Amino acid sequence: MNNKQTELLEFDKNHVWHPYTSMSKPLPSYLVESANGVHINLASGEKVVDGMSSWWSVLHGYNHPELNQALIDQTQKFAHVMFGGLTHEPAITLSKTLIEITPAGLNKVFLSDSGSVSVEVALKMSLQYWHSKNKPEKHKILTVKNGYHGDTFAAMSVCDPINGMHQLFEPVLMKNIFAPAPTIAFDQPWENKDVEELSKIFAEHHNEIAAFIIEPIVQGAGGMRLYHPNYLKACRALCNQYNVLMIADEIATGLGRTGKLFACEWADISPDIICLGKTLTGGYMTLAATLCTDEIANAISNGEAGCFMHGPTFMGNPLACAVANASLNILKRNQWQQQIANIESTFKEHLLPLNLHDRVNDVRILGGIGVVEVIENVDMAEIQKRFVELGVWIRPFGKLIYIMPPFISKETDLNLLIKAISTILDEDKCFKRN
Ligand code: PMP
Repeated sequence: MNNKQTELLEFDKNHVWHPYTSMSKPLPSYLVESANGVHINLASGEKVVDGMSSWWSVLHGYNHPELNQALIDQTQKFAHVMFGGLTHEPAITLSKTLIEITPAGLNKVFLSDSGSVSVEVALKMSLQYWHSKNKPEKHKILTVKNGYHGDTFAAMSVCDPINGMHQLFEPVLMKNIFAPAPTIAFDQPWENKDVEELSKIFAEHHNEIAAFIIEPIVQGAGGMRLYHPNYLKACRALCNQYNVLMIADEIATGLGRTGKLFACEWADISPDIICLGKTLTGGYMTLAATLCTDEIANAISNGEAGCFMHGPTFMGNPLACAVANASLNILKRNQWQQQIANIESTFKEHLLPLNLHDRVNDVRILGGIGVVEVIENVDMAEIQKRFVELGVWIRPFGKLIYIMPPFISKETDLNLLIKAISTILDEDKCFKRN
């Protein structure tokens, strides 16, 4: 690396926060020079194959000419205007597409800045809905353990109570209700026992519950767990039975990642509210959407406030909407089902056998998601360094080494990722003794 690059990294280390790492003893950060297709090019000269899709967001690869062009074209018209009193084609087209492709009945679109904000919006919609229906006592949120819904305060209040920062922020978090996490895996035989406790909670607390929020099928950052579609079906039935709104957080799963366009489709259900983010712009910029039913929008609009009480500065940002529209066009044209089927079959053939390794507790695969759960915690600094040396970008957490590569990944890219995981499993220094 040259002097300028070394200086940049030194400043970064001393002054710039990075997610979930100490500011006094930070994990190393790698300086990126450029990225193209599935490759991230580091300033140190390494070219690594991306296994993370930049946290589930990149679908069609980096530096995509069509996505670049969509941004250039929109920039030359206008980069941003306020959404209060003004509107524009990119936001309208995007909303139209989202209404068309999301599960039935979700007809009203609220655009916002990030996944966490879209969850805040969904929770606030639920509370305002019941307020408008003269049932303000329905003000709690029910969720399941091991969930993750974002880092803002209301979102944190529905994250897992043990690994979700509750202890730290206990005095100010909303007091919500937690059911046990689903235990029956996606491909295990179904048993009703998983919904017994959940049914009891619905029966006991429904008068105070505004909404039930869940990540459909894949519990992501809370443990990369894949649960049975019948559980999701039962959740929908309980929400109907007890008059509780159902919020599907599809921020990680939406737009094809699990092999269905939306993970709700595995259970053939429609939620009352859906949250989308991450993949919406193909990984180009931050944008999220919360869609709800006409019934919810009408109740809120006819309630005391006469409108929904939320309105971010960058709502419906035209650049983000333009690149989202371009990304959704590519998604359709690229036959994402085939792309995901190819990734899944390579994972099944080459990642699944890692199950037999002494260090491995479980391997889980669904669509474009591959998870290797190991027995010991990983040594983050060491494992990250080794992955870069092996030519891949994989960022594990805790005991989870997982990959969800861009949809365009070729078999050779996937095999490089899998080979790297298989190599580090044999290296003691990448793991911490429990
Ligand atoms: N919900 C889920 C299921 C997520 O995976 C995430 C992001 N990891 C969020 C919400 C929060 O999204 P963001 O980081 O864009 O705020």
